[in-house]
Amino acid sequence: MLLQQRMSWHVWQDNRKKRDIVETKLFADCAADLMQAAALLKQGSVVGIPTETVYGLAADARNPEAVRQIFAAKGRPADNPLIVHIADMAELEQVAAKISPLAIRLAERFWPGPLTMVLPKHPSIPSVTSGGLDTVGVRMPLHPVARALICLSGVSIAAPSANRSGYPSPTIAQHVMRDMQGKIAAVLDGGACTVGVESTVIALEQDDSVRILRPGFVTAEQLETVASHVIVDPAVLHELQKGQTVRSPGMKYQHYSPSARVTLVEGSQTAFAALMEQCSKENGVYALVCHNGQNALSVPAYTYGDTDEEQAQQIFSKLREMDDIGAKHVFVEAPRKEGVGLAVYNRLIRAAGFEVIQV
Ligand code: AMP
Ligand code: MG
Repeated sequence: MLLQQRMSWHVWQDNRKKRDIVETKLFADCAADLMQAAALLKQGSVVGIPTETVYGLAADARNPEAVRQIFAAKGRPADNPLIVHIADMAELEQVAAKISPLAIRLAERFWPGPLTMVLPKHPSIPSVTSGGLDTVGVRMPLHPVARALICLSGVSIAAPSANRSGYPSPTIAQHVMRDMQGKIAAVLDGGACTVGVESTVIALEQDDSVRILRPGFVTAEQLETVASHVIVDPAVLHELQKGQTVRSPGMKYQHYSPSARVTLVEGSQTAFAALMEQCSKENGVYALVCHNGQNALSVPAYTYGDTDEEQAQQIFSKLREMDDIGAKHVFVEAPRKEGVGLAVYNRLIRAAGFEVIQV
């Protein structure tokens, strides 16, 4: 009897916790709301925050219970580590156990900005944050709101992208509200993200070289100005084979996919147009193309930008828009694989579940 009472008390407590977040507040980019968001972070709640890359789902990186709430809200596998966001170099010493001269040079050149370095983990960072690894991804964001929240809350912020796991990342506050309504305490609206794709994630190797685990706005060419050698990990562009080990757990999972089927198409504009002609009878077919003013296609077409930077900024919101308009199958004209284009290509090939057609 006593046991039964205790059990129902736990169930009641769990339900109460779930009920606690009834409505996710939408904060504005003003001093009063920043203070409220910082207070929530300090007390162990999860808040959606803007960064220059994409919106993040932020919580105190050293509070295991708060970090568990991030994983629960996203539906993220527990072995996929979170990136820890810091505001200054003194904080880096509290997050990373060892900081090599190369790490310092990279920080001097690219921080604050969209570069994440995988470094040995400081003991104060709980293993739930690092997905059980003895390393930690660290980044110093540039966005003034993200920086202000780290400083005002006084905590280092663990923050993955603020989408539900597997779905395209959010680049405006409304995307986060949609994915996270009722699951987190608040979202702070800091406007549209300027970069639009997640940070470049790198591992620092022996002999001053760098391995790109996830391409981003900081390009291989830029990293080469600081590191002796830059390797793009094969998993950036290729599907993992069964049993293959990965350097970054995020490489294992399905990512960035809208509900609509996505097919990436490589080839000339003329060949793309011919393919659309063939597919125009299929129900719910849309095209997402790079070039403004492209020749009329036989299916409804949207553009996701001409330049690498425009494409990075728009790709996730366009993929979400495809679902909003009821697309069933989206053919995407492939971006280039150089510079920032490599980051866009990496996101699209995953959104497409590696379904690529050469025409
Ligand atoms: P997201 O949090 O959605 O921006 O994704 C973070 C990415 O960084 C994932 O692909 C992670 O696997 C990767 N990452 C974070 N921390 C580490 C780490 N310690 N070692 C390797 N990859 C990491
Ligand atoms: Mg993500």
